[in-house]
Amino acid sequence: MNKRIYLSPPHVSGYEMRYVQEAFDTNWIAPLGPNVTAFEEELSEYVGVKHGLALSSGTAGVHLALRCLGVEQGDYVFCSSLTFAGSCNPILYQKAIPVFIDSEPESWNMSPTALEKALIWAKQENKLPKAVIIVDLYGQSADYERLLPICEHYGVPVIEDAAEALGASYRGKKCGTYGVYNIFSFNGNKIITTSGGGMILSNDHEGIEKMKFWATQAREPVRHYEHKEIGYNYRMSNICAGIGRGQLAALDKRISERKAVRQQYVEAFKNLPVEFMPILQKGSPNYWLTVLTVQENCRIRPENIMVALEEKNIESRPIWKPMHLQPIYQPYPFFSHTNQGSLGESLFMKGICLPSGSSMTCSELEKVIDTIMKIFHEG
Ligand SMILES: *Cc1c(COP(=O)(O)O)cnc(C)c1O
Repeated sequence: MNKRIYLSPPHVSGYEMRYVQEAFDTNWIAPLGPNVTAFEEELSEYVGVKHGLALSSGTAGVHLALRCLGVEQGDYVFCSSLTFAGSCNPILYQKAIPVFIDSEPESWNMSPTALEKALIWAKQENKLPKAVIIVDLYGQSADYERLLPICEHYGVPVIEDAAEALGASYRGKKCGTYGVYNIFSFNGNKIITTSGGGMILSNDHEGIEKMKFWATQAREPVRHYEHKEIGYNYRMSNICAGIGRGQLAALDKRISERKAVRQQYVEAFKNLPVEFMPILQKGSPNYWLTVLTVQENCRIRPENIMVALEEKNIESRPIWKPMHLQPIYQPYPFFSHTNQGSLGESLFMKGICLPSGSSMTCSELEKVIDTIMKIFHEG
């Protein structure tokens, strides 16, 4: 069988081993250590936020941010519906009530119209959310110029889930600066990886210190082990942080490589009945995944494409299945962009994520393109 072409595999820069070796040489094979602090500093400087807190996952970041904003049992938390479950599972960890917000057609990110509808409803219920989690989907910033004033008007803090959008920007400011707390993920499939990990960025020093305390089992600062609050084992290891430092050094290169992948798909498919995820004029994505939708009247369905690719040992995926359609989240409220069904659902039905890795070779990309062209031309 040919070598599998993955959706978004890790891409080694060659700088990682230097930091990992340093950790071994100095015997910092431990949670925490100098790489963790350096990775926090380097990443927060890159993004333009004062403080970073390196964690075992992006999901852990969402969880700590919710707790830091005082989210407790029975509170509402709003969240983008078209996302990965890591964005909203922590709402249930806190026994709070998720309320899902539809996408808008311009960016596929959270719809300001749907957000406003949901806030009006919550206000009538006399229960405004404790937080709004806004996702930057597939490496593209949400439209914060329109979303933030709405949240400010109701006095609701924003958590930016920029897990997929490290390096992307919006109106000249990087993703990961738009929330009170901002989350990144370094899972194996993200634009850079630590093999697994995440980070919270924030200008709120006190909040970061509080979250650091919870992330290290809420150990009181005394000699013996003393606990007054519940904590978690959520910190990043010094080895993983070393990988992260080496990966971060190549981030800008990874963005241009992924951008080039997208451009080649766009060029190759310009006469096919497909549409690519629209890109906001005010934004500059990191092109994490190239995603397209197949026109509804076309006889070729995303399923046919995915099956044909799989036959050639090429990985592809549908667009995220919206959270409000997930069995576990079905009981919770959802606010749609229009009155005619949800946009997220229609994107899920007609969308497909293409192999987008920065390490994909020209011949691999050609193979993906040829396979897709063939389906449309031969059926
Ligand atoms: C990957 C991802 C997460 C979760 O990150 P982990 O590091 O895998 O826990 C959260 N939100 C979004 C939108 C993601 O894509």
